[in-house]
Amino acid sequence: MTDEFQYRDGILHAEDVPIPEIAKAVGTPFYLYSSRMFAANLGAFQSALSGIDHLVCYSVKANSNVAVLRLLGNLGAGMDVVSGGEYVRARAAGIPGDRIVFSGVGKTRDEMAAALGGGIRHFNVESEPELRLLSEVAESHGTVAPIAIRINPDVDPGTHEKISTGKSGDKFGIPVSRVRDAYREAGQLPGIRVVGIDVHIGSQVMDLAPFRRVFRLLADLTRVLREDGHEIRRIDAGGGLGINYRPAEDPAPSPAEYCALLADTLGHLGVEIDVEPGRFISGNAGVMVSSVLYRKTGEARDILVLDSAMNDLLRPAMYGAYHEIEPVIAPAENGRTSAVDIVGPICESGDTFARGRELPQLSDGDLLVFRSTGAYGAVMASGYNSRPLIPEVLVNGEEFFVIRARIPVEDLINRDIVPEWLTAS
Ligand SMILES: *Cc1c(COP(=O)(O)O)cnc(C)c1O
Repeated sequence: MTDEFQYRDGILHAEDVPIPEIAKAVGTPFYLYSSRMFAANLGAFQSALSGIDHLVCYSVKANSNVAVLRLLGNLGAGMDVVSGGEYVRARAAGIPGDRIVFSGVGKTRDEMAAALGGGIRHFNVESEPELRLLSEVAESHGTVAPIAIRINPDVDPGTHEKISTGKSGDKFGIPVSRVRDAYREAGQLPGIRVVGIDVHIGSQVMDLAPFRRVFRLLADLTRVLREDGHEIRRIDAGGGLGINYRPAEDPAPSPAEYCALLADTLGHLGVEIDVEPGRFISGNAGVMVSSVLYRKTGEARDILVLDSAMNDLLRPAMYGAYHEIEPVIAPAENGRTSAVDIVGPICESGDTFARGRELPQLSDGDLLVFRSTGAYGAVMASGYNSRPLIPEVLVNGEEFFVIRARIPVEDLINRDIVPEWLTAS
């Protein structure tokens, strides 16, 4: 894959812009994205599927900035949303309703109504009660909801337990043993029109084997459901293709290999194939830029205290995730390195990004980046410790744009309301 975060003359650039220039203008910490990488990653999927009737529906939850959605939408992407808020974002980015797929285990009546009113490609329905409610909501709006049922294939994707979604016992989808009954009911409900079948087995999947098992299962189920009289004209294969977070690990499967597998297993069915990649499209297209506040002497080794924290980038604390950490000023060749712990300022030991990381001699004021934070970075940020949400910046060639300004702490605290009885004298 192309990498648009490269050293030029010893300074890390984002596309053609030196990162220190952006840091000076915006202040650290901030997220920094490359337009070219979003486009290249989306393009890799689109061209790998070009021989098949398809739609690449970017998974909005990975990075939902409206500018990012607009960029991808302009290139022909559809969107996969998992909440009413994400639906509104996708629409605000100009994505037509018939390119938006609505997934998620807990859709509310209001969310269903909003999507039916604004236009929808299909709903991925995750339970029988949801099916009944959706039918009722559609009927009361004088319309019919297009649906696919998300099956739970009971396949272990071999990923972190918090991001596995396709094992029996996970909260997602309807088990294969009940799928025919669920479709039978769907076929009888007045507000429902069956258009396809759906699956999503989890995230950061690094092996094609679980995908192969699931796609074969989808092919079998498509045959069975068609024999039962249902119109299965679309297969939504979900997302989950992993990316490389570490330089020295086995390479993740490519979109070309993944899509060849889709074509192999499902191509003969005459269906349209939707995919929902999130992490693959945005993950490596972003970094988080941060400054060292203090180099502190620790018990075992030095500790770098940064101005970013677990509220800005949750993945290390939440999943024990690994991110490459690189200095913005290239280290001298053969320069001294040492192992350091890298932490944020929050009052929890969990606010530790990395331990024993080998880095050059960084000290107060030096800039560094966390690689591969374009997915599940900014979207998972919180205001914990009353830290204002950090900006997002998008680079395009020689220019950069602040696509979300730093959110002032006043905006966080002004939402708190002190009741009058506490202020009356
Ligand atoms: C999270 C999610 C995705 C995207 O997963 P990635 O691992 O980011 O590709 C796709 N579909 C559904 C239903 C999801 O919940």
